[in-house]
Amino acid sequence: MPYLICSKCAKEFYLPTQAYWNYSGDVTCANCGALQTVSLVNGELQGTPILKDFVLVNIFQAPIEINKDLYEAQICNAVLTNKACVVMCRRALEQVCNDKGAIGRSLYSKIKNLYDNGYISADDLNLFNEIRFFGNYGAHPSNDLLGDVTEEDSSLVLELTLHMIRHIYEIPDKLRRLRARRTK
Ligand SMILES: [Zn+2]
Repeated sequence: MPYLICSKCAKEFYLPTQAYWNYSGDVTCANCGALQTVSLVNGELQGTPILKDFVLVNIFQAPIEINKDLYEAQICNAVLTNKACVVMCRRALEQVCNDKGAIGRSLYSKIKNLYDNGYISADDLNLFNEIRFFGNYGAHPSNDLLGDVTEEDSSLVLELTLHMIRHIYEIPDKLRRLRARRTK
């Protein structure tokens, strides 16, 4: 019986032999319901199932390096590699600090510097610190919080990271364009 490993929940599920021995098209995961495109030849999966309806968010005004981290965070979140997602979110924020010239020896002090220089508000400062906290991995796996990161934590951290990066790069650009229209 052909079996697959779901690209979303990473659990395996079986497909009826008759209909799926040689098959190319969509299947639904029996565990989580995620729709994915697969190709089976003589009962063997070719490549990896590709999740359907999965669109990566791109924040055009942000530097490519930041977008690369965001892509990776989104993919990790989609396939439920939660620890990897929050680590990538933290990395994206560190890149924002570097891009904006924030100075400091730790990410904590860089974020504070970003706030002092007016790039983020007091509310955003809290948000930034919360993301920093979640994605922080210690020198010893037993000392960090990553082991406890759930699917919900990962989704929330990703959502807030995307919100922050939009706020810093996309919103000022859109505001500038709107203002230019009005004052033309
Ligand atoms: Zn699944």
